[in-house]
Amino acid sequence: MQSAMSPDWFLKICHEWNLDLTPRMEEQFLLYYKLLGEWNSFMNLTAITEKNEVYKKHFLDSLSLIHAAESIERKLGCDLKTDALTLIDVGTGAGFPSIPLKIVFPNLKITMLDALQKRVDFLNETVQVCGLHSVTVLHGRAEDFASMKEYREVFDLSVSRAVASLNVLSEYDLPFVRLGGLFVSYKSEKSDEELVSAEHAIQTLGGSVYDRISFYIDEDMYRNLILIEKISNSPDKYPRRAGVPSKKPL
Ligand code: SAM
Repeated sequence: MQSAMSPDWFLKICHEWNLDLTPRMEEQFLLYYKLLGEWNSFMNLTAITEKNEVYKKHFLDSLSLIHAAESIERKLGCDLKTDALTLIDVGTGAGFPSIPLKIVFPNLKITMLDALQKRVDFLNETVQVCGLHSVTVLHGRAEDFASMKEYREVFDLSVSRAVASLNVLSEYDLPFVRLGGLFVSYKSEKSDEELVSAEHAIQTLGGSVYDRISFYIDEDMYRNLILIEKISNSPDKYPRRAGVPSKKPL
């Protein structure tokens, strides 16, 4: 029988991924989906609007971090489902991947950062309507926040999806990650070349590639998760001032 709240195929794949959604989680996904549609009618949040597409290309794709769960848990000595890990989502846009992750892992303490005020307004509304707790929403650029003491090298995990190439992202994300923590970059099939071009940036920012996990979410959706461990402190001069990392990548 078709669930009133989630597409059956979505629940089935979540179950195969060892994520059994509670009715409350299903309700939160539905509220989130509806808000995306409402806000998208007057601002540019996402080009993907059809329900099944939103559930697949945004919700499921965000949750695909679960493929790296074993690797993350081994490195951090934690349990994603029960521990209160701190996670920052750099360039979160409309909340991907961190809001779907927060829904299924309610103990996560998430910080969502985006440079666009309107998207931050949407995120604040979503956090309230979906009843999400232990969430911080920040408006501004990664280059500025990563230099602030309260955000620098304090997070267990940083994640980014569809924000920039890996050499630029390393400068955005790695300064937020504590020693021994992980930066997880959601990438697609081109990640081999990206990884080669980002080697220098990763090393400069104190990172080291820890794992790579590739899989198909669907036959037309290939995903690569690149896990970068923070092995030494990021030098104080990084990230460079706003705009420089993308104009002159390391
Ligand atoms: N991560 C989301 C997703 O997967 O749907 C959003 C992707 S969207 C293409 C990229 C987002 O990154 C935009 O919302 C943009 O404002 C934000 N962004 C780009 N550079 C940034 C920076 N240096 N600091 C903060 N946010 C940034």
